[in-house]
Amino acid sequence: MTSSSKPIIIVGAGMAGLACATWLHRAGRPVLILDAADAVGGRVRTDTTPDGFRLDRGFQVLLTNYPEARRIFDYGALQLKSFRSGAVIRLANGHETTLQNPLQRPLSAFSALTSPIGSLPDKLRIVSLVRHVLKHTPEALLARPATNTLTFLQRYGWSEQMINTFFKPFFGGVFLDRELSTASNFFEFVFQQFVTGEAAVPALGMQQLPEQLASRLPANSVQLNTPVAAVEGTRVRLKSGQVLDGAAVVVATDGLTALRLLAGRSGNADDGCMVQATGFPTAARLTTCTYFAADGNSPGRGDKLLRLNATPGALAHNVSFPADVSAAYAPSGRSLISVSTHGERSLTEAELTAGLRDELAAWFGPAARQWEHVRSYRIPAALPVYLPGQPVRQSLKLADGLYRCGDWAAYPSLNAALATGREVAEMLLA
Ligand SMILES: Cc1cc2nc3c(=O)[nH]c(=O)nc-3n(C[C@H](O)[C@H](O)[C@H](O)COP(=O)(O)OP(=O)(O)OC[C@H]3O[C@@H](n4cnc5c(N)ncnc54)[C@H](O)[C@@H]3O)c2cc1C
Repeated sequence: MTSSSKPIIIVGAGMAGLACATWLHRAGRPVLILDAADAVGGRVRTDTTPDGFRLDRGFQVLLTNYPEARRIFDYGALQLKSFRSGAVIRLANGHETTLQNPLQRPLSAFSALTSPIGSLPDKLRIVSLVRHVLKHTPEALLARPATNTLTFLQRYGWSEQMINTFFKPFFGGVFLDRELSTASNFFEFVFQQFVTGEAAVPALGMQQLPEQLASRLPANSVQLNTPVAAVEGTRVRLKSGQVLDGAAVVVATDGLTALRLLAGRSGNADDGCMVQATGFPTAARLTTCTYFAADGNSPGRGDKLLRLNATPGALAHNVSFPADVSAAYAPSGRSLISVSTHGERSLTEAELTAGLRDELAAWFGPAARQWEHVRSYRIPAALPVYLPGQPVRQSLKLADGLYRCGDWAAYPSLNAALATGREVAEMLLA
């Protein structure tokens, strides 16, 4: 095989690897994607149970204004279904308050007479932040100097009450980081995305996103159940022992796996140090998603609003009712309840489920004790940790013919995975 007829080998069929393959294929370059898993999508997967529930592996949404998502997806074919903008917030005293369009129409949402969240200056500060993010492009916000998000909010002047009852439950759920230690440039970007777009899921579940990209690639260009053991220059050694030679190699796995695959690439210690020095962030945020099923009407009342828990120390951080948003998530006559718990609790699945039942019964009434536990997903490396000072883009070219992409090479978002995949494709095409 001449080097131009050899495919570009992409290790990993998550959103980054698939985006890279999509842009290369559109430009006429042969690609071969290798993935260890039994389906495409990486962290974006949906399981269907024998009863007909669709379970996304962790609560996850597409923000429809993500620039990279708009570039690459056919939204019409995905039949996107949107959550209503806003949230129902359970306060520490057990009362609930509903905020509709809090970022898109801040004054009307927060200034409802009954809203116990935020003082008048707090509400005006939301308006001011909305104006600020609308003045910038997404890229400009990501490039801004950063502190951690909590410090950013405090410096902006928001009261502790506003931070604890709105920002921590809402953005702590987005970052899987209740303490808001995540870098503020990413907060500004995400805030803008909520102001300008919607939070949506494809009608048939989140896995439709990677499936749409994979379906546009030539048959046989995606090999599943094919774990890669090492990457050495433009050669890939499979776990089976087979060695494949590519025109170039793109490592599109998670950060820890990439470090492991690349560490031995020349077999000497210096090279290992070089890999470390090039920056491979591998720390990650943990989340657990517990699904319950109920008969009859949805406990979410069909309002398509996310439930957020502002109670300190609670296990149930956010609750959603996916079938209220897209009916295909549950069989007819049944409803699905998705409950997310962020961070490490050192509980077994049975202990967590029992603890959640107690909290959900206090929140949604005693019927919650009868909800059927469908499945739990514990996802130790759901999002890469992204702290102040981390570059918004790590170097994506590692050596001639050797590249990397993925959210861990940028910031924790689908947008980053898709963007780094495209950027590597553009480097290869240049
Ligand atoms: C619960 C949860 C909620 C989230 N919520 C949101 C959200 O609301 N909005 C948002 O924008 N983002 C969200 N994200 C983040 C988003 O899913 C990720 O940023 C994105 O999917 C990362 O894609 P990736 O391609 O970089 O990595 P991955 O999806 O991790 O893909 C890596 C791929 O590499 C493969 N692989 C690993 N090792 C090997 C090997 N040795 N050989 C071959 N293949 C290998 C894996 O099987 C996988 O397919 C969430 C993530 C999770 C888990």
